[in-house]
Amino acid sequence: MGERVVRTVCSTCYCGCGVFVHVRDGKVVKIEGDLDHPNNKGELCPKGLAGIELLYHPDRLNYPLRREGKRGEGKWKRISWDEALGTIADKLQTIKEKHGPESICVATGSGLYANMGMIGYFAYLLGTPNISGSGNICFVPAAMAAQATIGHAIAIFANEMKTHWKPSASFYGRRIRGTVFPIPSEKGSSRQRKGVQS
Ligand code: SF4
Repeated sequence: MGERVVRTVCSTCYCGCGVFVHVRDGKVVKIEGDLDHPNNKGELCPKGLAGIELLYHPDRLNYPLRREGKRGEGKWKRISWDEALGTIADKLQTIKEKHGPESICVATGSGLYANMGMIGYFAYLLGTPNISGSGNICFVPAAMAAQATIGHAIAIFANEMKTHWKPSASFYGRRIRGTVFPIPSEKGSSRQRKGVQS
């Protein structure tokens, strides 16, 4: 199969840094920053550089597991997607019939990987208005308080904006010098890469 280079973005956090992913014989072997990407201009933070470890980590959950022992015992059995979805559907149906659909709250992680539209539609079909996630106890209250008191939700970034923000496509928590966030350099010139796929 040989090696190919795929041009894409890192999705380990919200910054969306541009990357080139080198794939050899179907396996990712290297990740490097895209010098032409406006968000990071070739720089990557340690999390982005460790993307291969995340992808191939032996403890990464790639398929459904059913707990076999007691909670906390660490005993799990691999099951099929059909069995997993069937089990979840049965349990939801039982709760719905016993306690009503509004007894269910659909909780998510951050919006980074979750399709919030689909989650809302799922809750709607389930019959519950209750949706929650990490943003509801993190970003959203902060933004609402800033909106109510200062007049603009973006004020919660005021400190970092004051020192580092310049108008650009992305300011989302990224111009924080001295942290793990990649700081775009001014190298700026484009790098010709052969075999790059967008
Ligand atoms: S800041 Fe780091 S983790 Fe976030 S997108 Fe960029 S490289 Fe990935």
